Amino acid sequence: MLTCWPTGAMVDHGYHLSTMRRWSEVCARIAATTRTSEKVATLADYLRSLTPEELPIAVTYMTGRPFPERDPRTTGIGWAAIATAAESLVDAPPGALGASYNLSSDLGQAVADLLTTHNHEPKGIAPTLPQVDAAFSAIAAAKGQAKAKPLRELLERCDPQTAKSVVKPLSGDLRIGLREGHLEAAIAAAFGRPLADVQWTGMLTGDLGLTAGYARDDKLGEAELALFRPLKSMLASPVADEAEVITRLGSPVWVEDKYDGIRAQLHKQGRDVRLYSRDLHDVSESYPEVVASAATQPWDGILDGEVLAYRDGMAMPFLQLQARLGRKDPSEQMQRDVPVIYVAFDALALRTGRARKVEPLLRLGLRERRARLDALNLPNVPGMATANLLTAATADELSKVFDAAQERGNEGLMTKDPNSTYSPGRRGYGWLKLKRPLATLDCVVVGVEVGHGKRHGVLSDYTFAVKDDRPGAEGRLVTIGKAYSGLTDKEIATMTTWFEAHTIRRIGRYHVVEPAVVVEIAFDVIHHSNRHDSGFALRFPRIFRLRDDKDAREVDTLSNVEVLYKRHESGRRFSVQARAGAAPPA
Ligand code: AMP
Repeated sequence: MLTCWPTGAMVDHGYHLSTMRRWSEVCARIAATTRTSEKVATLADYLRSLTPEELPIAVTYMTGRPFPERDPRTTGIGWAAIATAAESLVDAPPGALGASYNLSSDLGQAVADLLTTHNHEPKGIAPTLPQVDAAFSAIAAAKGQAKAKPLRELLERCDPQTAKSVVKPLSGDLRIGLREGHLEAAIAAAFGRPLADVQWTGMLTGDLGLTAGYARDDKLGEAELALFRPLKSMLASPVADEAEVITRLGSPVWVEDKYDGIRAQLHKQGRDVRLYSRDLHDVSESYPEVVASAATQPWDGILDGEVLAYRDGMAMPFLQLQARLGRKDPSEQMQRDVPVIYVAFDALALRTGRARKVEPLLRLGLRERRARLDALNLPNVPGMATANLLTAATADELSKVFDAAQERGNEGLMTKDPNSTYSPGRRGYGWLKLKRPLATLDCVVVGVEVGHGKRHGVLSDYTFAVKDDRPGAEGRLVTIGKAYSGLTDKEIATMTTWFEAHTIRRIGRYHVVEPAVVVEIAFDVIHHSNRHDSGFALRFPRIFRLRDDKDAREVDTLSNVEVLYKRHESGRRFSVQARAGAAPPA
C-alpha cells in the first residue's frame, strides 16, 4: 500500500515503517521551530496520517505520558531499571548512563548518546506505536528490576533516535516545546473540528488520545460528564497580592481558606461513593469514613473538595494526613489517630429531590453551583463540611481576611469569581490563590548543581544551610533544603560564574562551594526530616532574593528554625462550615 505522506513523499507504509521512528521525527521537527503555527501544522498533518489504532497512542505520548492521564497504571520504572536496560544492551559498565546524563540532563538523549557511542546496531524492524504500547504495558505489569527486560527488548530494536523517543514518555518530559494547547489545536486542525469542542472533550475525558479519536470520528459531542469517570480539577492561578485579585476578579470577590489537605472529587450514586485524587486515581479505600458518611445521603452527583486531617474544629498539619496517603483500608486506630473530613467547595453535577437525572453544573456560575452545594446541607453530615465562604469588596478588606487566616496558621487563601464557570484542568483566572510565605530564612549556599531543561548548562539548583548554634556544634553549617527557582536568568548566569570559580570539590554533578552566598528563602511549611543535616526540611522553598548585604556569619540559626517550627506546629485552624454553618453571602 502506498500512502501519501504529509511532506508529499511517497513511502511504503505496508509494514508500518517504524511508526515510533516517525513519531520521533515529528518530535524533532516540532522541537526545531519556535513558531506555534508551524508546530501545530506539523502535528496536524502527522495526526491525520495515522491509523485509528496509532492515533490515541501517538497523542498520549505527545502529552509526555506513557498512558493516558486517566489511566491508573504507571510504568513505575525508575532510573536503575532504565540504566540496567540501556547499559546491558550495549555492554556498557554500570554508571555509563549516569555519565552520559551529566552531559545533557536529558534521560532520552542520554540513552540515545549511550547507544551511539557504543555503535548499537538495531535488531530487526524498529517498533511500531502499538508495539511500544504493549511494551509499556509489560513494564507496568513487571516488578522492580524485572521492568528492565521489556525495555531492553524494545531498545534492542531501536536506532538511537527512536530509543530517545521511547524513553521520553517514560521520563515524563518531551522537551520539544509542545504544550497541551498546541496538541488540542493540532487535533482540531487535523480533523476540521472546532477547537472549543476539542478542548471541552479533552477536559471532560482527561484523555487527549481518546479525544483525538472522537475528533476523527466526529463524535466530540458524545463525550459527557459521567459519574465514576473523574474529570480534571479546576486549578487556580497564583497572584502577587490582594490588589491583583481585585483587578483580575472585580468586586466583590469570594474568599475561602486554602485548605492544606488533598484535592478529592467525590462521585456518588446511591450508596456507591468514590473519591478521586487530583491525578484522577481512585483513592476511596484510603478514606472509608468519608465514603460511608456520604453513602447515607439522599443526593447523587459529583462534588469537588479537599480531604483534611481534622479534629474538633481544628485542621491538623498536612504531615499528619500524610500518614493516611496511599494507605488502603486504614485500621480503626489509624482512623482515630488521624480523623479526616471532606470539605466540599464546589458541586459539578447533582441530582436532588425528585429529579430523575444527574444535572451537569459545570457551565453554571459558581454562585449557582455553591447554592446547589449549600442546599445539600453537608455541615450537618458527620465527616463532611463545606468551605467557609466570605466576601471582600476591596484589597484592604481582603487583606484583613488574610490577616485573620494567617493568625489561624493558614498561609493561603483562595479567591474566586462568583460568576466563573468550572473549567476542568485549567489554570484560568476564575480562581486565584493568594499566599504569604510562612516566613523567610537567611541561608548560605553550600552546594550547587546544573539545572534541568531550560536551566541546563547553568548552576541553578542550590543546596543551602543554616548555622548550628547548639553547644558544641561550633557554628557548623547544616543543610536544610534545596531550591530551584526564584532568581532571574541574569542573576543565575552571574552566580554560575561565581560558583564555578569558588567550587571546592565536585561529587558527580554536585559542586561543593565556598559558603559565602547568602540567600533569603521563602517557604510554606517547616517539618522534621532526615533528608537534611539540620533535621528539618522546608515545603516549597524558593529563593526570595540574594542577600548581597549579608555574609555567611549572619545566616539564621537552628534555634531560629526551632522557634518557627514550634510556632507553626502549635495550631493550624481552617474555618470550615461543619455543623450549622453560616449562610453563604448573597
Ligand atoms: P496549589 O496546589 O498551590 O496550586 O493550589 C491549588 C490547590 O489548593 C487545589 O488543587 C486544592 O487541592 C487546594 N485547595 C485548598 N482549598 C481550596 C479551596 N477552597 N478551593 C479550591 N482549591 C483549594
